[in-house]
Amino acid sequence: MTKKAKQKNKKKACTKCNKVKPLDEGFYNNCSRPDGKTARCRECIREDNHNYYVRKQKATGGVYCLWQSLLTRCHRGYTGRREYKYYEGKGIAVCDEWRNNFEKFKNWCLANGYRKGLALDRIDNNDDFRPGNCRFTTLHENRNNTG
Ligand SMILES: [Zn+2]
Repeated sequence: MTKKAKQKNKKKACTKCNKVKPLDEGFYNNCSRPDGKTARCRECIREDNHNYYVRKQKATGGVYCLWQSLLTRCHRGYTGRREYKYYEGKGIAVCDEWRNNFEKFKNWCLANGYRKGLALDRIDNNDDFRPGNCRFTTLHENRNNTG
């Protein structure tokens, strides 16, 4: 039997799902590993990549929505909105750094514990949305704070 043919009949277990699969059909090539194949099977890698992508999309998507909602509350002159009097009408602004640069806002959020479902809370409610006056809280804490 040639080396190649031997390899063809070889099987190993995926380190993630533990299913035993043929090396060639079951795993991607990875020349930096001793057997030349990835540790996780093709399906698991595809699934992990997909999950990573979805998570990333959701994380930045959520921050983006948050950023948009701050700008809407503070800078768009929507006088008819119920929230107007609490923000723009009160002169509350989003600091220039955040207002002009989504990346900076996103980086601050990610460095300060942003998670989906948390609310961006101002420590001093009469001060602007800016680093140093903001923190992430659960909606419950946020309600207690304002009510
Ligand atoms: Zn697997």
